[in-house]
Amino acid sequence: SISTRLKMIVDYIPDGEVLVDVGTDHAYLPLYAIKKKNLQKVIAGEYNKGPYLRAVANVEQQKLADKIQVRLGNGLEVIEKNEATVLTIAGMGGNLITEILNDGYDKLSSFKRLILQPMNGEFALRKWLQEHNYTIIAEQIIKEQDIIYEIIVAEPSETSVHLTVKQQKFGPLLMLEKNAVFLEKWSQELQKRQKILSLIAEHANNQAIETKQERLNSEIQMIREVLGNA
Ligand code: SAM
Repeated sequence: SISTRLKMIVDYIPDGEVLVDVGTDHAYLPLYAIKKKNLQKVIAGEYNKGPYLRAVANVEQQKLADKIQVRLGNGLEVIEKNEATVLTIAGMGGNLITEILNDGYDKLSSFKRLILQPMNGEFALRKWLQEHNYTIIAEQIIKEQDIIYEIIVAEPSETSVHLTVKQQKFGPLLMLEKNAVFLEKWSQELQKRQKILSLIAEHANNQAIETKQERLNSEIQMIREVLGNA
């Protein structure tokens, strides 16, 4: 059955839209979306041949080839300009997602909503969103089978968007909500940094190490402030 992570992503897809799912792998997201939502059409993009063939087979097996078009290609290359209105990119590193958004930038103007689920690098992704005037309208942090996932939902904004460094790092909405998974993630991140600091303490006479210590200390302070036990 479909993961909670993919279900949550699909929840954010509005009815009546044309969805493109980049990096679709088995096409699980499109297959679930087409059943749950009233979508005009779904395009499932996949860069690698193996996953592409798996997606094609799954879509054909469920007799949904009239509604889900599986296309082989890199990022947004699989669509024409103005062809789609909602974008999902899930299960990839934040840097790769940012690259896909940059490379396909000329096609983004037709999208009302981006639903992104980076596996890491959330900071760089939120920074990209603010620099390109997208507002984060919803965020989720969930834990499934011991892995913590973040979902970021963004829409183009008419006015200029500003996020503080803290908001970019922790998520503007996640840091207000501070749910249990958020507290768990950032307590772990805090401990990781404290551990590195103690491991490198004996090399403190080296300039590069000192710079790293300073960075770790300021990150530790920021995390403590957000966790609320500074
Ligand atoms: N989106 C699915 C999910 O969240 O469960 C699958 C995630 S899977 C880990 C990432 C998929 O993205 C792989 O199938 C990979 O081949 C594909 N991929 C990686 N880079 C891509 C790109 N530039 N364009 C399209 N697909 C890409």
